[in-house]
Amino acid sequence: ARVAALSTTSGPGRTLDGHPVKLLLNVGAEGAGFEPVAAVDAEGVGLFRTEFLFLDAETAPGVEEQEAVYRRLFEGFAGRPVVVRTLDAGADKPLKFVAFDDEPNPALGVRGYRTATKFPELLGAQLTAIARAAAATGAQVQVMAPMVATAVEARRFVTAAHEHGIASAGVMIEVPAAALRARELLAVSDFVSIGTNDLSQYTFAADRMLGALGELLDPWQPALLQLVALVAHAGAETGKPVGICGEAAADPVLAQVFAGMGVTSLSMAPPAVAAVRAGLRTRTLAECRDAAERVLTATTPEQARAVLG
Ligand code: PEP
Ligand code: MG
Repeated sequence: ARVAALSTTSGPGRTLDGHPVKLLLNVGAEGAGFEPVAAVDAEGVGLFRTEFLFLDAETAPGVEEQEAVYRRLFEGFAGRPVVVRTLDAGADKPLKFVAFDDEPNPALGVRGYRTATKFPELLGAQLTAIARAAAATGAQVQVMAPMVATAVEARRFVTAAHEHGIASAGVMIEVPAAALRARELLAVSDFVSIGTNDLSQYTFAADRMLGALGELLDPWQPALLQLVALVAHAGAETGKPVGICGEAAADPVLAQVFAGMGVTSLSMAPPAVAAVRAGLRTRTLAECRDAAERVLTATTPEQARAVLG
């Protein structure tokens, strides 16, 4: 009777038998304000992309300016988690106010968390602004770093965040090296979140912007699914949350597979939430686990899709 009582059109993410998988939002530019996104029926923000504050700016945004923006978002999410991703710039997303060296392969250059090691004052100011805004609101604020490749980088970032008074800090898994060593990264982090867009790009050596490579970038590619499973299992072993915040999380069928792998949250563009919620509620956790095992035996994305098709 409890199962029948679960709504498929509103409320938290649950499998048919009530196993929780958090439904979170990907949020970008402030645009007309954060009210519309705060009103979406979701459990929080799984990825706040902060690049919009930096990329077109002539000078580095100050602590007060950043704090004001973060505060506006956090206020709408009082009582809910908000994961703020620190600046994901560099390479093909250069900053006007710091000098980058020319890089022959921008996607493999100083980008993401790597910019923080080159320009540590940028990360320091951002963490200060996030911590101040968090203290002034009731949101459960967490931070995560993009493009982390090793546990050493993860430990540096998490330590910096904790030193700024931010209690929960994690890293994105977007580089195959990080996925392969997920257990070590989890050991020094409070959580991880898988960025499947970049993880696909770097696993298949296929530029994510090239439509012509769409077949390789298919989120049902078994190699990608195997890496996600590896990270999810590491999360289960360490008892720490593993989220997904790339486009793959918005696929209502794949969401069932991810739930079966042990992923604890899915973060997506707001319009995708309703379908993912409905998709999760079509199967029990045992059925999701069975599907998660069987997709790994597939050789092609088509075979993987057929498991639940
Ligand atoms: C990703 O790479 O999957 C991700 C969520 O980050 P972005 O798309 O902003 O690079
Ligand atoms: Mg990314």
